[in-house]
Amino acid sequence: MQRRSFMALAGSGLVCGCGAVHRLPELSGGNIAAAQAEVRMAVPPLPRSVSDDEVVRTLRTSIQLVRAPAARLCHEMDVGVCEWNFRLSRSREMNAGATGYGQITLNRGIVEYAANEEEVCMVVAHEIGHHAANHIARGTRSRMIGVLIGVTLVGVAGALAGASPDADVMRSAAQLGGHIGDLSFSKEQEREADYMAALILYRAGIDLDKARGLLVTMAAGSGRMATSFLDTHPAGPERVAGWDRAVAEIRASNGRLPRRA
Ligand SMILES: [Zn+2]
Repeated sequence: MQRRSFMALAGSGLVCGCGAVHRLPELSGGNIAAAQAEVRMAVPPLPRSVSDDEVVRTLRTSIQLVRAPAARLCHEMDVGVCEWNFRLSRSREMNAGATGYGQITLNRGIVEYAANEEEVCMVVAHEIGHHAANHIARGTRSRMIGVLIGVTLVGVAGALAGASPDADVMRSAAQLGGHIGDLSFSKEQEREADYMAALILYRAGIDLDKARGLLVTMAAGSGRMATSFLDTHPAGPERVAGWDRAVAEIRASNGRLPRRA
């Protein structure tokens, strides 16, 4: 047991191939304080009741609006996956996910919680951003490193104890190491996906200020909303502030890609 917790600690410190591809704007204390004040005044969102037809229609329209500009941006970046398959989930949790090779899952709950189509577009563009910036493959790489570190540590610990580790220990070590690398995207990758979302929306001519509303209400609803988006996507004033800095930079550069990290 002791050996396991040691590996967990050692692994979590070492397993990280998970930075952003681009240089992202810095956040000042002032940026975050302003977002905190705004979030305190905001009203948490309540899910609306929407028909199956409306869910499908809204998601389809949002995908159509962002797809072409997003594909052009993705090819310009030239680091990630630029063909995406969208899947609608009936889940009423406000969540979405990017997995595998270009897979994007959009929950029904996104449409139920969003105040307008621009907010839905932002979620779609955010998940595209994870693929375009190759976050999944980078995550897979860090998972592989995690497996190797797990196995290596048991080997070393076994050698120190004067015994060769048995196969079961090796296997569980590999699983443990792999799990550490697999927890989620890094905070930097989440910030980058938001940046890419803002850039895609800007180029698509979608109102960035309307899209931003979802980040504010989500931050206000933290802990009170039925949403696993808050688990998988660090929410809160910091995310709102990151969005604002991204939008300011994008408007100033007229929608250019930021420099590589
Ligand atoms: Zn994300």
